[in-house]
Amino acid sequence: MSHTNDNQEVMEKIVALCKRRGFVFQGSEIYGGFAGTYDFGPYGVALRKNVVDMWTQSMQDHDNIALLDSSIFTAGRVWEASGHVGGFSDPLVVCNHCHTKHRADHLLELVNVVADEKMTEAQINALFDKHRKKLKCPVCGKKDFGKVSAKNLLATANLGMFEEGDAQVYLRGETAQGIFINYKNVLESGLYSVPFGIAQVGKAFRNEISPRQFLFRKREFEQMEMQYFLHPKDALVEYEKWKKERLAYYDLLGIKKEKLRFKRHDNLVFYAKDAWDIQYEFPFGWNELEGLHYRGDYDLSQHQKFSGVDMSVYDEEMKQRYIPHVIETSVGVDRTMLMVLADAYHEDEMNGEKRVVLHFTPRMAPIKVAVFPLLRNKPNLVQKAREVYTALKKEFIRVQFDDNGNIGKRYRRQDEIGTPFCVTVDFDTIEKDDTVTVRDRDSGKQERVAVKELIIYLQSKIS
Ligand code: ATP
Repeated sequence: MSHTNDNQEVMEKIVALCKRRGFVFQGSEIYGGFAGTYDFGPYGVALRKNVVDMWTQSMQDHDNIALLDSSIFTAGRVWEASGHVGGFSDPLVVCNHCHTKHRADHLLELVNVVADEKMTEAQINALFDKHRKKLKCPVCGKKDFGKVSAKNLLATANLGMFEEGDAQVYLRGETAQGIFINYKNVLESGLYSVPFGIAQVGKAFRNEISPRQFLFRKREFEQMEMQYFLHPKDALVEYEKWKKERLAYYDLLGIKKEKLRFKRHDNLVFYAKDAWDIQYEFPFGWNELEGLHYRGDYDLSQHQKFSGVDMSVYDEEMKQRYIPHVIETSVGVDRTMLMVLADAYHEDEMNGEKRVVLHFTPRMAPIKVAVFPLLRNKPNLVQKAREVYTALKKEFIRVQFDDNGNIGKRYRRQDEIGTPFCVTVDFDTIEKDDTVTVRDRDSGKQERVAVKELIIYLQSKIS
């Protein structure tokens, strides 16, 4: 992992830009903040929607993938069956000096020791003790930690509270379980048969020990998950296809190829047949963006066992019943947003002036086009610019009108939020030839385009 000061500085700049320009705010900020939560402002909402729409579209490109929206509150048995109640924990260790909470496996990673996810509390304590002398607190630098304890990640809430035993419920720790418990419902709706997938976007909650790195590790976050149900004989071929497709997908989001890579899991959980992560090189180092897992029939078998509902299907060829296997792809909306922001962030100089620019691909940009009258105190310019704005808005929806400050300042503002095109209505527009200037964010080049051709011109650039 590279943790240079430069990279930390980039991260701080991204966080500051997000706040300044209304992308992302610290949750409950006016009350001192609430760790692990963030609120999304106007451009953040737009960016988030683009991320979700692109992912949903990529799933809908497959005729055999169904969409689902399952509840956040779920019966407790769901999480017993899935193994989350018993085994979904992270190893907590506290620095005796500055009292900061850390994940023991993350501290071990810093000295190149990999802790197996399956380790018991005693095993991880033994491993931690073995390397204790090398382990420094990343916050205060002291080598003085307490014992490691396993902390369950499931967040709980109190609901109902009318009868005893009613009160505590789990908030879902992942969206996947909502898919498994609805697999039979979707199958029986008659629209799909194995092989088929179920895709869902929704909130998940985890008691993360040390929510850090901005949108990367939150306590309330959003996942985009797809579980693909298939016959075991097809699993390995399909797994490879999905790996390829998911990596290629990031090209559509405009992500730099050299910043993405596959990494196989060092240790597989006992039921997993294979597991790979797509990693992105965030400013704080290479880290998981998306998981691609071949989970065998573990999840459906567990729910069959705990619910008593038959999850098997009939194999016409083999004349026997079997429980479908599952391949899943799972990626966070928030981590994707952070990647898109980090990948787009750039500082350069244009026309002798320093600028901050977000090089979003047009599809990701929260605002597609900004429209300016050259001067705000000339009613005929303003009126014409309003007309252009209204026409563009019908077509592109995310269009902004801006008449505040000089044109240079307006360009800088749009560069900072990643608007790919700025259209200016000037005196030539109204007095001469009904053309406007279209300025390209990345090159700064300006072209004159006839107003009647403007929509077609922009469409060809944006789509
Ligand atoms: P990590 O090892 O980073 O904790 P994980 O392996 O527990 O992640 P999964 O359970 O596989 O993550 O979740 C799938 C995806 O959900 C991750 O790849 C990530 O994009 C997203 N995700 C998981 N936890 C968080 C979180 N706390 N905040 C934001 N996104 C998350």
